[in-house]
Amino acid sequence: MPDPLTLVDHPLVQHKLSHLRMRDTPPHLFRQLVREIGQLMAYEVLRDIPLTTVPIETPLTAMQAPVVDGKKLALISILRAGNGLLDGMLDIVPVAKVGHIGMRRDPETLEAIEYYLKLPDNLSERLTVVVDPMLATANTACAAIARLKSAGATRIKFACVLAAPEGIEAFSSAHPDVALYTAAVDDCLNDHGYIVPGLGDAGDRIYGT
Ligand code: URA
Repeated sequence: MPDPLTLVDHPLVQHKLSHLRMRDTPPHLFRQLVREIGQLMAYEVLRDIPLTTVPIETPLTAMQAPVVDGKKLALISILRAGNGLLDGMLDIVPVAKVGHIGMRRDPETLEAIEYYLKLPDNLSERLTVVVDPMLATANTACAAIARLKSAGATRIKFACVLAAPEGIEAFSSAHPDVALYTAAVDDCLNDHGYIVPGLGDAGDRIYGT
């Protein structure tokens, strides 16, 4: 069983997160910061990414050199806010295969409803990293991961920027086999399912809607 929760508390990530939280951070900067956090989180989340070797020539000799095995990695974005983190991770591992899952929250029940799905093939052979900046109730993340498991994924990690304690609890009980990475754990959820102190609606702030 993986460690249930890894806090990515690197000072650079914390600094960028504080700027994300600020009410007056404009969308273009917010989007850039989420992308940069995605890049930095990739370093931690992909620490045990599968490698393969290729024959290369250095100026001195031939050798077998380790390279990331793109056939073994899938990055899955939960639309639409997940695309912000996805872009940062893809900057670091451009060879990864990419999937998208569209889950929207019913505003009344906060339950997740799937409206889009496009996944790489052979998920069972890949490390599958699911990204969404906010783990609030965890309804969306839990439903997305259940869907990925039914599509064959077995080795799954979930990366977010902010998590609520309620979301961590629900996520870990539903999917104890999925390692969870977050840059911070906030205080609680409010009555509308928003993380407090949080940063507001991540999708709206990334895209200026
Ligand atoms: N989704 C968001 O974008 N923000 C929250 O605070 C909770 C869910």
